[in-house]
Amino acid sequence: MDGIQTRIALNEALFREVNENIQKVSEEGRYGDAHFVCECGEAGCEERVAFSMGAYRAVREHPLHFFVKPGHESPHAEKVVERHEGYLIVEKPPEAAPLLSGETS
Ligand SMILES: [Zn+2]
Repeated sequence: MDGIQTRIALNEALFREVNENIQKVSEEGRYGDAHFVCECGEAGCEERVAFSMGAYRAVREHPLHFFVKPGHESPHAEKVVERHEGYLIVEKPPEAAPLLSGETS
């Protein structure tokens, strides 16, 4: 992995943490669809992606899976595994796993 790939992975892990909090709050409030932040690797991205808790949990079942707005994927750092209305699911390479787990020093 090069420096750019590392930066993207770290940003995605950060956005995932934000979304974990959105999920907690939304489940407590029993809303329908929730508006999650785009998990692309761009530091300044503030796009929102709306989908159901069920769809959100399905993505989270895979530690290497993230969701992004169409066009926000980074082909050199991840591959698109599913295309949905309004969002894509991307998969990070296994070597990014240590960065995504938050266990970096
Ligand atoms: Zn984005």
